[in-house]
Amino acid sequence: MTTVETVRGPVPVDRLGPTLIHEHLIMISAEFQKFYPELAWSLPREEVVERVVTALQEVHDRGVRTLLDCTAFFHGRDMDFVQEVNQRVDLNIIISSGIYTFDFLPYHLSHRVPPTVEKDMLTRMFVRDVTVGVGDSGVRAQSIKVATDKEGITVNIERVLRAAACASAQTGVPITVHTHPADELGPAVQKILVEYGADLTKVVIGHSGDSEDLDYLRRLMDAGSMAGFDRFGLYLPGTSTMEQRLDAVATLCGQGYADRIGLSHDAVLYSDWGPPGVALKRFPTWVPTHISDVVVPGLRERGVSDADIDTMLVSAPAALFDSIKA
Ligand SMILES: [Zn+2]
Repeated sequence: MTTVETVRGPVPVDRLGPTLIHEHLIMISAEFQKFYPELAWSLPREEVVERVVTALQEVHDRGVRTLLDCTAFFHGRDMDFVQEVNQRVDLNIIISSGIYTFDFLPYHLSHRVPPTVEKDMLTRMFVRDVTVGVGDSGVRAQSIKVATDKEGITVNIERVLRAAACASAQTGVPITVHTHPADELGPAVQKILVEYGADLTKVVIGHSGDSEDLDYLRRLMDAGSMAGFDRFGLYLPGTSTMEQRLDAVATLCGQGYADRIGLSHDAVLYSDWGPPGVALKRFPTWVPTHISDVVVPGLRERGVSDADIDTMLVSAPAALFDSIKA
């Protein structure tokens, strides 16, 4: 039976249950933490642990059983924190490799132009996280997270995408690509990923649900990928409203696309990127229980069947992890 590695060990893919495909437990700036600890944690660590445990317990209480944490290198991963939290909450937490950049690469990467994509430091980093584990945590990443944004597909981003595709082809783990959907770069991203060996059925084009352009979304899904309706709760200015997103999901389910849709919040349960509580004040719905409490009832009101809801929350996310080789 196919299994997927989680923070607590391997879990059969068919036992993952309701799954949120894109969340973040913690994003903490590692260099601040090391050199300026008084600036790194605006709250005491124990308090942060309590907050995140409470938030995840609420998610568990709604029936969610698995969460894909899309926090990558440069995002500020903290494996000790994730492991500590997961000892106290009964959830399967799958962690990610990858790199979170919209263009910039640090010198130890940018100064080493790879002779081949296989030998690229980025590819080796991603494969290492998947096959050995993240750092010395013993936890193997089972997904690769990369990004394109307003900067477009720059030379550096193309390199990142190639490395992600190559590492995914070697290991069978899925790829999640943060995108800026207004630029509709999804098909260009897919083209590069396929060229370097990725299986598009294992690729999530993230943040697609920010867009109202159903033709664009269908193009991504017709090519095999999952469209991430993964920012429910975070209704940024200039992106579609909750009602528009619910209507879009309902329409697409009616057209047979439920198995190509993933639901999530992109919630950040704790970050030192801004003062604590400020993001929640600005976006009060940006909590990891929003899908259970508001989105699923909203989809039912729009006639989305229980079978389609189950597909989006259970079988479609599980299918991302059913070909992992390493
Ligand atoms: Zn994210």
